[in-house]
Amino acid sequence: MRTPNFKYVRKRKELVELLQNKGIHDQSVLAAIGKIERQLFIPDSALHGHAYENKAFPIGAEQTISHPYTVAFQSQLLQVGKGDKILEIGTGSGYQAAVLAELGADLYTIERQKELYDKTTPLLKSLGYTQVKYYYGDGYKGKQSFAPFDKIIVTAAAPEIPVALLEQLRLGGMLVIPLNNKKGNQDMLRLTKSEQQEIHKEVFEEFSFVPMLKETNE
Ligand code: SAH
Repeated sequence: MRTPNFKYVRKRKELVELLQNKGIHDQSVLAAIGKIERQLFIPDSALHGHAYENKAFPIGAEQTISHPYTVAFQSQLLQVGKGDKILEIGTGSGYQAAVLAELGADLYTIERQKELYDKTTPLLKSLGYTQVKYYYGDGYKGKQSFAPFDKIIVTAAAPEIPVALLEQLRLGGMLVIPLNNKKGNQDMLRLTKSEQQEIHKEVFEEFSFVPMLKETNE
């Protein structure tokens, strides 16, 4: 385990306060964000001083690390309990994965950019998140061999709801997904599969994500 970088303690605390002011109230989500060193997930060290601002930054392969507020909002919607079996689509920098791992999730995460998969897997392992399972592949297909999942989170802008993801949700399970709207942004949706196999839809505020793309990049 690395020694924590005390340089950013105050900035992390300020970020947690900002998230609280923006309406994040789940204490375990706030605690995870107050603990995780976000600068480690940003490759350009010149940006590390800005890591605790509510901003997205480049992570390579034309992708970005999500805004901390977006990560907090999606994590809060998922209502993560210890041991929940969660599938994440879009590992990216690994920051959202680290938050879910801190919340005690039994996490499976998929990335379609080989460069990011190759970089993020060892990073999260080095940080001690040994319960995370990593896959290089197309998240539209989910991970049938490990279904059903208690929760599924998509961290890229979806043009439609992938059918495979709904199928791989257990009864009572939830899918949190940013779905493209007519304004060119995404509406955050939480879809809950009832015991009768019905899908109950809740719509939350708008966000802006990089696109969810089909197939892998190779
Ligand atoms: N959770 C990430 C968000 C990164 S941005 C973080 O905290 O940094 C979204 C990521 O989704 C990108 O890395 C992108 O390559 C990935 N992605 C897009 N479409 C995908 C798909 N079909 N399957 C898996 N990953 C996908």
